Amino acid sequence: MKYVLVTGGVVSGLGKGVTASSIGLLLKACGLRITSIKIDPYLNTDAGTMSPFEHGEVYVLDDGGEVDLDLGNYERFLDIKLTSDNNITTGKIYQSVIDKERRGDYLGKTVQVVPHITDAIQEWIERVAMIPVDGKAGPADVCVIELGGTIGDIESMPFIEALGQFSYRVGTGNFCLIHVSLVPVLNVVGEQKTKPTQHSVRGLRGLGLTPHILACRSTMALDQNVKVKLSQFCHVTEENIITLYDVPNIWHIPLLLRDQKAHEAILKVLNLMGKAGQPALEEWTSRAAICDKLHEPVHIAMVGKYTGLSDSYLSVLKALVHASVFNRKKLFVDWVPASDLEDATAKENPDAYKAAWKLLKGADGILVPGGFGDRGVQGKILAAKYARENRIPFLGICLGMQIAVIEFARSVIGLQDANSTEFDPNTRNPCVIFMPEGSKTHMGGTMRLGSRRTYFQVMNSKSAKLYGSKSVIDERHRHRYEVNPDMVACLEKAGLSFAGKDETGRRMEIIELPNHPYFIGVQFHPEFKSRPGKPSPLFLGLIAAACGELDAVFLGNGIQRNIPNGVGNHTAKIKAYQNGIATKATNALPDGVYSNGNGVYL
Ligand code: GLN
Repeated sequence: MKYVLVTGGVVSGLGKGVTASSIGLLLKACGLRITSIKIDPYLNTDAGTMSPFEHGEVYVLDDGGEVDLDLGNYERFLDIKLTSDNNITTGKIYQSVIDKERRGDYLGKTVQVVPHITDAIQEWIERVAMIPVDGKAGPADVCVIELGGTIGDIESMPFIEALGQFSYRVGTGNFCLIHVSLVPVLNVVGEQKTKPTQHSVRGLRGLGLTPHILACRSTMALDQNVKVKLSQFCHVTEENIITLYDVPNIWHIPLLLRDQKAHEAILKVLNLMGKAGQPALEEWTSRAAICDKLHEPVHIAMVGKYTGLSDSYLSVLKALVHASVFNRKKLFVDWVPASDLEDATAKENPDAYKAAWKLLKGADGILVPGGFGDRGVQGKILAAKYARENRIPFLGICLGMQIAVIEFARSVIGLQDANSTEFDPNTRNPCVIFMPEGSKTHMGGTMRLGSRRTYFQVMNSKSAKLYGSKSVIDERHRHRYEVNPDMVACLEKAGLSFAGKDETGRRMEIIELPNHPYFIGVQFHPEFKSRPGKPSPLFLGLIAAACGELDAVFLGNGIQRNIPNGVGNHTAKIKAYQNGIATKATNALPDGVYSNGNGVYL
């Protein structure tokens, strides 16, 4: 196993996660198998209890791990499935050491940060790096480790110490350190300043870590003399100094790294030149180019609670982007704060109320994402009502599905006080109720988390067709409440279709309004499994419906596009995209690029 460690200096928010994922992608494109570990030096054992408003979304893995959103970047870029152990936190490490101490495993020794915590970190990394994450047998070739925070943070010290020891333990040729730093440009003189990077590299060295490669964030490519200066002061060769300058979309980052031969620099440090080939990034290149040229707009109203911080819904946004690029549309996300749609806002803040309704009414499609707590629930219900009555394409995710059911029960069946027991425990018409999988009395750990199976009930439903007419699908969950099974018959009679259920038939997974152009609600979170080259079917459906092109997707003849020049000429294995949408294979596309037979890249 070879290791690439990515650290960050100077300031946070440099895009270290995207850089690390892009490095992984680039190495994967060279033919290597990649896994990754994210280290978060905070004390929380996992991200499950962290507010999306403060920390961005909680990303959910197949195994039910609630982890840092950076793991989403790895899964999307590398098309892998990580485990909750791939996210290390200080809390997890200390817990494991304290558990061991309680069991008496330290045989009376004084338990200390060095060596006990630092050993635990190294053992954790070595153990987790061996877990295959790409569906193939045996461990990957390279593990990319991203250390959260910036060099010098007090809480990352034990990790730095552990990683210093680790680099020595695995030895030269097995460890490559990439330091992501900032080269600011001072407006007055327009000069690229190297001092912050010099300082942060000095800090890194002082802590026993030597960088092999510098990845410098800057607005423009670094001047040659700036590289020379950095090389001299930081003891990193010039060809190992890469600039990550501003690009129109993040899909360019792997290409930027390739153009500057970052893969060669890494492969040399890791002695992998013989094993790896030239990076094959045709699909990635054409998608980044297509993305830059999109001009036909599609407006999606996101009716949520945390509209102030887009990271709160990062995976939903990414899934929308994947689906829009697939449909060749330029995505505009119109953020609608749910509570601004409510009657109370009309009185308190009429401008906000008007603005919110204007956005909602101007959108081509409406998405209500997941959420917890009752703030904005009434606004979300109003958005679902508007979408249902005005035949606007609608996708409700988790809480978004639950509020759509409440709205339907209230407006269509006439149950005025229909509600979720999450918001009104005493409602006489509880159409959404607490349905824990385990204990009913114990509140902790009662969330239904991770991958669960959905069985389609209605094969000619839009959702079943979008999933390629499969009879079962696995998607990720994170919820406590569900549609009340005792009210299903009544809802069905009034016209709501339950297109997907769990294996017991008691848990409702997918709702649909059959006579609506596109009105779908799902108890699961399809956004977590969307990938740039494989958009989530329900997002694909939402965007296509919002553009009036859903029928084309169903007919399998897609949207007519020209195949861009320069995309592979060799015979390739073409897979039909999710068995349904892509039908005819052409032989002019490289591996991993799919076509529906009409030149559409899927
Ligand atoms: N609050 C709801 C529940 O617990 C919805 C959760 C969600 O949207 N992720 O079931």
